[in-house]
Amino acid sequence: MQQEHLFKVLVIGDLGVGKTSIIKRYVHQIFSQHYRATIGVDFALKVLNWDSQTVIRLQLWDIAGQERYGNMTRVYYREAVGALIVFDVTRASTFDAVLKWKDDLDSKVTLSNGKPVPAVLLANKSDQLREGVCSQIPKLDTFCKENGFVSWFETSAKENTNIEAAARCLVQHILAHE
Ligand code: GDP
Ligand code: MG
Repeated sequence: MQQEHLFKVLVIGDLGVGKTSIIKRYVHQIFSQHYRATIGVDFALKVLNWDSQTVIRLQLWDIAGQERYGNMTRVYYREAVGALIVFDVTRASTFDAVLKWKDDLDSKVTLSNGKPVPAVLLANKSDQLREGVCSQIPKLDTFCKENGFVSWFETSAKENTNIEAAARCLVQHILAHE
């Protein structure tokens, strides 16, 4: 029998790190340099034929505008089962903000079993020159272990690098908690 899952996944991180671009690339296979500064919450749906018995609907929640404040309301986080936390490898300050986003997530939502929502860290714009800690892979491995990220990936929405792999990794962890 076919199984269907609907998973709410949040895409969070500082302004301009590439959240919208990652979602557009993943869902619509497009990339644009144009900066859209709409305000509000946007949704995109990605349907994955996971295996012969399983269809997964990933509801990706994008934010626009509110990331300036570095936190979101509980309503936004409600019933999320996974998160992609994004920083921009060309701007070290966006990496410094990653833990703030992780804390915001963990303080506002947990899985029904009380465990933290699985989060994958995305080091985006890997097609560009890196700044500071962002280039130090062993440090990011340790950083993820110490701060409860399930994994991290170097991504590029521009060149379509690793976005599918990161999403697949997140879904695997979400399914493990089902
Ligand atoms: P958001 O505010 O986090 O949603 O960021 P956007 O998706 O709007 O991206 C901000 C800017 O970075 C835009 O000009 C994008 O074209 C650019 N951008 C996003 N991802 C990448 C990437 O992987 N590589 C490069 N070079 N630019 C990117
Ligand atoms: Mg955006």
